[in-house]
Amino acid sequence: MNKDQIIARLKDFVGADNVLLDESSRKQKAVDLYALRLYQKHLGWQPVMPMLVIRPGNTGEVSEILAFANENKLRIIPYGGGSGVLAGAETIYEDTIVIDLSRLNTIQDVHDQDLNITCGAGTRIKDLEARVNSQGYVLGHYPQSMDQAQMGGLVATRSIGQFSTGYGGIEDFLLGLEAVLPNGEVVKVKANPRTACGPDLKHVFLGSEGTFGIVTEVTVKVFPQPENRWKGSYRVRTMDEGLEIIRLVMRTGIKPSVIRLHDWLECEKPYGAFMEEGESLLIFLSEGRKDVTDLHGQIIEKIALDNGGIAAGPKPVDIWFTHRNDAADEYEQYGSQGIMVDTIEVSGNWSQIADIYNKTVERVYYEVPEVLFFSGHSSHSYMNGTNIYFQLGAFPPPDIAEAKRVYDQVWDITMESTLEHGGAIAHHHGIGKQRVKYLPGELGNGIDILRAVKDGLDPQGIMNPGALLAEK
Ligand SMILES: Cc1cc2nc3c(=O)[nH]c(=O)nc-3n(C[C@H](O)[C@H](O)[C@H](O)COP(=O)(O)OP(=O)(O)OC[C@H]3O[C@@H](n4cnc5c(N)ncnc54)[C@H](O)[C@@H]3O)c2cc1C
Repeated sequence: MNKDQIIARLKDFVGADNVLLDESSRKQKAVDLYALRLYQKHLGWQPVMPMLVIRPGNTGEVSEILAFANENKLRIIPYGGGSGVLAGAETIYEDTIVIDLSRLNTIQDVHDQDLNITCGAGTRIKDLEARVNSQGYVLGHYPQSMDQAQMGGLVATRSIGQFSTGYGGIEDFLLGLEAVLPNGEVVKVKANPRTACGPDLKHVFLGSEGTFGIVTEVTVKVFPQPENRWKGSYRVRTMDEGLEIIRLVMRTGIKPSVIRLHDWLECEKPYGAFMEEGESLLIFLSEGRKDVTDLHGQIIEKIALDNGGIAAGPKPVDIWFTHRNDAADEYEQYGSQGIMVDTIEVSGNWSQIADIYNKTVERVYYEVPEVLFFSGHSSHSYMNGTNIYFQLGAFPPPDIAEAKRVYDQVWDITMESTLEHGGAIAHHHGIGKQRVKYLPGELGNGIDILRAVKDGLDPQGIMNPGALLAEK
């Protein structure tokens, strides 16, 4: 089948207006927010352009497109909000069909008794939050990319929100879903609080990054609007001291919504006025019923003060809250100044995490002279461990290949160091196309299970080739 015939058939499915062939639409959907590209584009890097962008308006249309693509072995990339940071939605073959899911944005009413809401996978989480707020609820899932990320993309990457320590990650938030398999078949996983009906099929799609099918609808939890917020912050001398305080707080079993620990490099600008040079800062925010948040406050305060913390009051928490989503704009500014920035998130048990942070920072500064800054914070904690979110700023020679060399060096060290200390190489950004080469080191022969699922569901290999798993 030639290109004109493909276009004609696709127009039959969704109407001519929803098959976009113009350069601007194709260029826009050729990339996501992969940091290496954000930097390289200032040096003249050009994306590989997909053949076309198609915009289905319902599950039936998604099903027709996939069945047709499967029959004709046409490569597909599902495209959500395009806020992914690991090239998951980046086009790598010119004959690709990009499926823009943003028209799947119907939102149903909150089910008050069951405390859930159902919406199309193309719904931006920002719009879903606004809808539930208007009915007296919150989602409790607040990724920093709220303005852009869609519900399907959040599921497909196993996202987490800034209030996750209290509310959990997407795997706790997602109750049910509908998805279209590569052969066009529609599957539904009913929304229920828990089941024991074999492995949880939601998890086939959580983190699948558009390689097993397309998520078309989700049902997620809602929570009654919280009555109160308790806020507190504490200076600590070192990251190790701060991590130990978080560990002791989590060990009590309480779950404040937000617990963050920032190293000095991250603190100097926003919180420097509240601290001594070189210190780290702990931020706590608990939301919910006032009696519960007050109790959380008492427990946190006692543990923090007994273990070397110095109270710095609620103001730093307010500063964090006000500026918590500023990063996207700052990244653009850095790129235009010739500074390459990125973030790398990993996780580890309490017995490993201080080593992961300290050894990785030490190695990156020592081994990569182009690095200007390499900082870290913990922002999602559990009884058993926490994450570290590294932030990189580097000044590579102004050349596309040199930028990649420096970028790869920092990534290699961070992945190696995390694995060496027993941690997990990805906490919430997923694998995309950037992390694929490190995944065997993380999963061992478990990667064969993922490969078997892929081969079973997508034997033609049409779905997002090169993402999550290496191409055969
Ligand atoms: C400034 C900034 C802050 C961020 N903060 C956070 C954060 O706090 N927490 C967090 O978890 N992440 C964060 N991210 C990363 C990103 O927002 C998440 O990975 C998000 O889940 C991506 O959603 P999206 O809709 O934009 O997906 P896209 O970028 O469009 O796609 C991501 C992957 O999912 C696939 N996909 C998209 N939609 C579907 C679908 N319906 N069905 C199947 N596959 C699909 C794509 O093919 C691709 O592989 C941040 C990114 C930026 C730029």
